Amino acid sequence: MAGTGVQLIPSPEEVMQILKRTAAFREGHFVYPNGKHTAHYFQMPIAFRYYDTARVLAVALSRKFRVQRDIASQLPKVAIISPSSGGIPVAFGVRDALNAEQIYWAEQENGKRAFRQYINQGEINPCIIVDDIIRSGNAIDETVELVRSLGAPVTGCGAIVKFTGAPESASGVSIETLVDYDEKFYSSDDCPMCQQSTPEEHVRF
Ligand SMILES: [Zn+2]
Repeated sequence: MAGTGVQLIPSPEEVMQILKRTAAFREGHFVYPNGKHTAHYFQMPIAFRYYDTARVLAVALSRKFRVQRDIASQLPKVAIISPSSGGIPVAFGVRDALNAEQIYWAEQENGKRAFRQYINQGEINPCIIVDDIIRSGNAIDETVELVRSLGAPVTGCGAIVKFTGAPESASGVSIETLVDYDEKFYSSDDCPMCQQSTPEEHVRF
């Protein structure tokens, strides 16, 4: 359908194939920093270290924004924002695909999410917040608050993967995703992998 403007977005199954092939999606027995146990872990930067893969995933996510009239009408005066370092390659890829003017990201500073100093100066554009993965939704919520403190509206939110337990929207803006993953969390008391004595891997973000 080249030339008609119709662009396909890969299916969730196709995106999962990419994440499995690059070993970003891992299966086993994982213990999160909060002590929860799972049978899977998404280490998204493993997929994003392959430039072509990063591009395919980010372009796919960008298409979910481009079809939204209120976002398309604001381009290129839009900022693409990442809540953390993991979302930076996503933000750059989405920025490229949408030809948005600005890109920046938040970092943890003394245990608090913050933008770099002076980022509240100069031109403040409407913002699209993108991340590699949304597990609880806390990072995106905190970033919405940061963006609002700049006086900028949030016009879009999205991630390559979102756990189904996380909210569907942030601050009234629906969260666009390529994969909604139903991850099961266990305590050490009810963890089936513990019961099978599968060796544990401790993951950090
Ligand atoms: Zn376990």
